[in-house]
Amino acid sequence: MPADNMEKIVALAKRRGFLFPGSDIYGGIGSTYDYGPLGVLLKNNVRQAWWRAMVQSREDVVGLDAAIIMHPKTWEASGHLAGFTDPLVDCKKCKKRFRADHLLESKGLSMKGLKEKPTLMSEVKCPECGGELTDIRMFNLMFKTFMGPLEDAANTVYLRPETAQGIFVNFANVRDTARKRLPFGIAQCGKSFRNEITPGNFIFRTREFEQMEMEYFCKPGTDEETFEYWKGFMMDWFAGLGVRRDSLRYYEHPKEDLSHYSKRTVDLEYKFPWGWAELWGCANRTDFDLKQHAKFSGQDLSYRDDLTNERYVPYVVEPALGLDRAVLTFLIDAYEEIDGGRSTTTESNKEVETVLRLHPAIAPIKAAVLPLSKKEPLTGIAKEIRAKLAERWMVQYDEVASVGRRYRRQDEIGTPFCITVDFDTPNDKKVTVRDRDTMSQERVAIDELVGYLALKLGV
Ligand SMILES: [Zn+2]
Repeated sequence: MPADNMEKIVALAKRRGFLFPGSDIYGGIGSTYDYGPLGVLLKNNVRQAWWRAMVQSREDVVGLDAAIIMHPKTWEASGHLAGFTDPLVDCKKCKKRFRADHLLESKGLSMKGLKEKPTLMSEVKCPECGGELTDIRMFNLMFKTFMGPLEDAANTVYLRPETAQGIFVNFANVRDTARKRLPFGIAQCGKSFRNEITPGNFIFRTREFEQMEMEYFCKPGTDEETFEYWKGFMMDWFAGLGVRRDSLRYYEHPKEDLSHYSKRTVDLEYKFPWGWAELWGCANRTDFDLKQHAKFSGQDLSYRDDLTNERYVPYVVEPALGLDRAVLTFLIDAYEEIDGGRSTTTESNKEVETVLRLHPAIAPIKAAVLPLSKKEPLTGIAKEIRAKLAERWMVQYDEVASVGRRYRRQDEIGTPFCITVDFDTPNDKKVTVRDRDTMSQERVAIDELVGYLALKLGV
């Protein structure tokens, strides 16, 4: 069973150093979170797994790392300056702030209905105190700052609200340098910023977050088939990293709810403890973005097929995933509590044991080296093994507490293998390797350990 409530995940994340509230000693700030020693490893591994699947293993996708601050014209062309807004209302009594569309949805109403029937909003009261709400104000979600010393309109710039635009403005650069024929994709990971009115659910929705986006450029007319491919890719990627398929489903956005640029959008959703929610969105953005940037920049962003001499503006299919959201999904899905424990050691009997069944490719620590005594020669051998394995993987050395306790510590942070150096090791040059999930133990020669783990870990 995956975690059934967020408190358990938040508690584990803090207790074991995956995630801390941002600026913790000052009481935190606006739902930001800092990745701790284990969290940064998990996050890096998820990013690398995505990169391997999306870029490294493919011939048709290249990578990019564009600047966060872009020319302000970018956001004019993309429509973000005018249209990237949320409808905001305040409670006149308790002063709490809400998104009008969310309040309407909870009543089975929609913002679209609001335009036809402006009185609708008056039917909605503050969900906290029942107070009267203010009129709706449209609020732009882009963070604004200034470039250079003058704080005026001419120097206003924005922190990017999506990484996609960095890809679109580089389409011509990549087209002219990467020696790729269409269809090809450009992938990018990086921070994006949205001044959300109501962030929440831990790292599910934060104002600063990391995206992993890929824009796949294709010939118009092949876009629908391309879309189907990437839709399938999304679910296969999560399932391939151990997420249960019955916790994943697709949500097709109704035509009338599509963004201005989208011909079709399908979300891969995950069954979070609070309900189904978007994990990975796949959008058919058509030629909207390239045409807009061509218009605003005056540059030619078309593509010429050198075999047929056809020239056209490519269509774009975009699978866009939030890295933080992916990390949260893996934590929730891997989490398991075992009542009464599964260890046979007496001191850990009858307690609740937590096992994080993370896929080996994303587990923060791949192996722990545990000497059975705190004395030589076991500690010396164990430290040598740690150093050898650390050339390839993140590993931990731990000699504190009973071996049962140490196993449980590693189980709780998702370490796939524990390597025990025991009193036979100095003589037979072998160690015992324990599997986190099956708890089976195998005797492995120290000389063969690297090859053994490489095979088991797959990384
Ligand atoms: Zn109120």
